[in-house]
Amino acid sequence: MDEVVKGLIENEHVLVVATICTETVEYARKIHDTWPTATAAMGRVIAGSVLLASTLKDKQKIMIQIKGDGPLSEVVAEADSFYRVRAYVKRPHIYMGLKNEKIDVGRGVGKGFLNVIRDLGLREYYQSSVELQTGEIARDLAYYLNVSEQIPSAVSLGVYVEPDNSVKAAGGFMIQTMPETRAEIVDFLERKLSQTQSTSSMILQGMDSLQILEEVVGLPIEVLQRGTVTYFCPCTKDRVINAIVTLGREEIQKMIEEGKTVDVECYFCKKKYEVTVEELKILLREI
Ligand SMILES: [Zn+2]
Repeated sequence: MDEVVKGLIENEHVLVVATICTETVEYARKIHDTWPTATAAMGRVIAGSVLLASTLKDKQKIMIQIKGDGPLSEVVAEADSFYRVRAYVKRPHIYMGLKNEKIDVGRGVGKGFLNVIRDLGLREYYQSSVELQTGEIARDLAYYLNVSEQIPSAVSLGVYVEPDNSVKAAGGFMIQTMPETRAEIVDFLERKLSQTQSTSSMILQGMDSLQILEEVVGLPIEVLQRGTVTYFCPCTKDRVINAIVTLGREEIQKMIEEGKTVDVECYFCKKKYEVTVEELKILLREI
């Protein structure tokens, strides 16, 4: 079962969060039929969104959007405060080979921007963006947290894809210090982090999220919260119809003139919705 653990290093002001989301990423891979580079990029963004979701209040959501000039073009994951995640990749059929025995996500993503959109509820949204540093996503997310949110953070994300394309491991961890954190602890953590093994290899060894955190920081952890990560898309026909509105009057008029029922597919879960000509006519009157 996919999980997330959030805690503090015992008696220290350091926040630690880890997730194992292998099943969720494998589920997303099947929905989107992603090839390894797309799977790894999407899996890292999913794990990253779960880590950021650990800082949300009830019913809030967070979306990470990676937009690059590489062949993947766009990778998006959204997570809510209950660790329900959905994701998509604009170009799922991308495999670019390995670099240093790892899937070359950086080349798949290319240069561009990382956007984080926080949905605080009540139609309140906050978006902030940073330029991609490597396109490898973990470092980009750490850069975003350090620069845009001004929270000193370390992030590691990992996805291991089997030769048959299935996901064998996916997850990540995040460590954040606070203004009160002792300088000795910061130095200690920097040294520990420079020696740490990759997240996917720790997952492949069978460690759970808490064991990963203990291994990474080498100190006891006080658990504050545990959660279950699932793939969940809250799409409804109403939301699909709202998406049609954004096409504009002219486009909708054209669809009506064609006289055919329109099939609309949800980006995130591939569920298909049928919108009839009658429904399009009502929509046009309402705009
Ligand atoms: Zn959906």
